[in-house]
Amino acid sequence: MSDDIKSKADPKSWRARTRAVRGGTLRSQHGETSEAMFLTSGFVYPNAGSAERRFKNEEPGYIYSRFNNPTVAAFEERLLLLEDAPDDVECRGTATGLAAVHASIFGHLSAGDHVVSARALFGGCRYIIEELAPRLGIQSTLIDGRDLNAWEAAIRPNTKAFFLETPSNPTLEICDLRAIARLAHSVGALLIVDNVFASPIFQKPFELGADIVVYSATKHMDGQGRVLGGAILAKKDLFADKLGVFLRNTGPSLSPFNAWVLLKGLETMDLRVRQQAANAVDLIGFLKSQKGIANARYPFDETHPQVALAKGQMSGGGTIVTFEVEGGREAAFNFANALELIDISNNLGDAKSLLTHPDTTTHARLPEEERRTLGITEGMFRLSVGLEDPEDIKDDIARALKSGR
Ligand SMILES: *Cc1c(COP(=O)(O)O)cnc(C)c1O
Repeated sequence: MSDDIKSKADPKSWRARTRAVRGGTLRSQHGETSEAMFLTSGFVYPNAGSAERRFKNEEPGYIYSRFNNPTVAAFEERLLLLEDAPDDVECRGTATGLAAVHASIFGHLSAGDHVVSARALFGGCRYIIEELAPRLGIQSTLIDGRDLNAWEAAIRPNTKAFFLETPSNPTLEICDLRAIARLAHSVGALLIVDNVFASPIFQKPFELGADIVVYSATKHMDGQGRVLGGAILAKKDLFADKLGVFLRNTGPSLSPFNAWVLLKGLETMDLRVRQQAANAVDLIGFLKSQKGIANARYPFDETHPQVALAKGQMSGGGTIVTFEVEGGREAAFNFANALELIDISNNLGDAKSLLTHPDTTTHARLPEEERRTLGITEGMFRLSVGLEDPEDIKDDIARALKSGR
């Protein structure tokens, strides 16, 4: 890399939106505008001694793309800058969001440890904590994440971690990050936060006390439905202790190609997420006014039972709304099938508005009683609001409500 075309400024002196566009840029000798993609599995060494020193961590330089890769490193650096995490936090890209969640639990907990988790979780997160962890000797307790007393009551002498999503998928429950972090730290446990729904644009979990933050980069970071990816952000000493070795030797690595797509996605994420959130705000008022729709919910809407908490820890309400179509499952399916613009899908954070019926798809694995406890009903939908003109989204919903009836 040539020094003369490297950015001269200190990226930490930049504000978040500048960091998202320029952070982590690493120009080659050709001076390309867009980041180069290092689509290589391995690297060569100038001599045998250099290979030895790199393996011993005595000399900087790449070894193998399962460990790290320049394009992946650029993505990690840009996300770290955007997150504005404390100086002792590092970021590692992963192949998917679930690889990051999996590593956040198994990368440093051992058989005999205990984890407390909010029960309102993305389906795969719930599988990891509820089923996989106990199978491997890590006890887990699922609680109502909104209830601070429930967190406290679940603590055991061997509790090593708290896990949560806020807002939660799909019911948009809010967990009090500051209070839960204080409680976790009072017993020496780590707080792991899945920050996918809020995105780094609207919520900064490290400022609120989190120790590990995980992302599915598949969602808002790509934002255009192209690639899978994830990231895990944690303090350096956690990576140095067990997590780094775990990632290196279990292989959940992010592909350089996907890292490149995500790196470019970060450049426009702020614009996209803020516009999608504005569209969601616009839509929530409309949904509340529609006959045949009940319980329209959005974290920053005055009718959300935890709106004050949401506004106290997020700077925007996010890009997801939920609502119920009255008339049970048949009416819900008729509504979904009558949509002409909004797609039925399970992704979120996309430029295209995507509608999910959690009861029969993402959360169908859970027993019915548990789905109802979580507030997932037969008529409930999760809508990831896209970048289309909100008037077209409203027209589509209004038309589908009429013709689906
Ligand atoms: C999508 C998602 C995940 C999993 O991410 P993948 O990239 O699909 O593996 C984890 N948590 C939340 C909240 C998600 O929405």
